[in-house]
Amino acid sequence: MITHPRRLFACPVLFVLALTGVAVAQARPFPGPDLPATYQRLLSQIDKIPIFDHHAHPAFPDDTDVDAMAAPPGSVPLRERLDNPELVAAAKALWSYPYDDFTPQHSSWLVQKKAELKKAGGTAYFSNLLDKLGIETSIANRVAMPDYLDPKRFRWVFFVDSFLFPFDNHQLTARNPDQRVYIPLQEKVLRRYMKQAQVNQLPADLDGYLRFISRILAENQKNGGIAMKFEAAYFRPLHFGDPPRSQAEAIYRRYRSGSQPSVDEYRTFQDFIFRHLVAEGGRLHLPVHIHTAVGIGDYFNLSEGNIMNLENVLRDPRYANVTWVMIHGGYPYERQAIWLAAMKNVYLDSSLMEIDLYPAEFKNSLKQWLELFPDKITFGSDSFPYNEVLGCEESYWMGVRSARSALAAALAEMVSEGEVSEAKALEMAHAYLHDTAARLYK
Ligand SMILES: [Zn+2]
Repeated sequence: MITHPRRLFACPVLFVLALTGVAVAQARPFPGPDLPATYQRLLSQIDKIPIFDHHAHPAFPDDTDVDAMAAPPGSVPLRERLDNPELVAAAKALWSYPYDDFTPQHSSWLVQKKAELKKAGGTAYFSNLLDKLGIETSIANRVAMPDYLDPKRFRWVFFVDSFLFPFDNHQLTARNPDQRVYIPLQEKVLRRYMKQAQVNQLPADLDGYLRFISRILAENQKNGGIAMKFEAAYFRPLHFGDPPRSQAEAIYRRYRSGSQPSVDEYRTFQDFIFRHLVAEGGRLHLPVHIHTAVGIGDYFNLSEGNIMNLENVLRDPRYANVTWVMIHGGYPYERQAIWLAAMKNVYLDSSLMEIDLYPAEFKNSLKQWLELFPDKITFGSDSFPYNEVLGCEESYWMGVRSARSALAAALAEMVSEGEVSEAKALEMAHAYLHDTAARLYK
């Protein structure tokens, strides 16, 4: 119902009150002198909110099941480098590290400390870590789940890119040194899935191949998987065409037993398989997580991996029943990406952003998200075991600390600038850190 304004303000007293209300609620372009105090008040509340970490790769450093790909050599942004003094702060906060640097002698203390705690065995090491950080639940985006992660605290998100690589991959592998690292690992995961399905060769036709895929998805879901994850941007453009089934059938028939498709044929086939996986995600209620951001290595193609390439698929009504999670929020295109989250079934995850960006800058990205679609954005740490010193423990810490402070800062500005009340700001904080993501996996 639309209330006519003249009717609403028929009473002169109400009219005056309403005008006063409007004056108070008028947003200002600058924060007021209350900003630091508001920040402190919000931060002390935000520090207490239990977190749902929507994207992480928890693992001990020697666990190769942590990812379906490995990091090729490449340049590392400033904050991820080993001389980042924040890593000393992380080690102090997590393990009471007694030194102020990571000289080889000093860092061996840390390696030893972790080894001692690990010796206790069971799931205590990682569950205690979550407790220390105030994380209630963390996604474990891994090839498989290890017995040292408690499935009640760590929810499995499995990889599905390997289904895009059933043919002879020599041509794809030869493209650059990064692909020489990535593609053999995809082949390995596909062989693993074939072993799981107890088949030692590819099914005879496309129909059989699609049934094999669907079977693995359903089995992984039964074994605790709550979502599927694509890291396709590392291997190919994120624009997916829409080829007819007959075309995919012909390509499968022709190349399944060993010969090599052209790059275009392979891509067409992958377009079809991607859409099958996505549609199955809708049918099985398995949300679809997609890496949408910069990537590691020297050959990651930023423009082909741009999140906006997914727009045709995200806005395709055939996938209206699919829940999409844009991992890493499209960074560095996060300001465009937030408009994709206008779709009711599209969510953004901020992982990686709060590790690569310092809180002072991450705050600005987060603020714009909060001002547009605060109910569609979720926290993730992208915790990963980079090496024995910078483990996933420290990256969890950095993600959590950065996000809590940047969130408090963004919301304090919004309160001080007259955009939202403090109560509303705290509601948004709960949504971002926990509620919105948790609701997707009831
Ligand atoms: Zn990740």
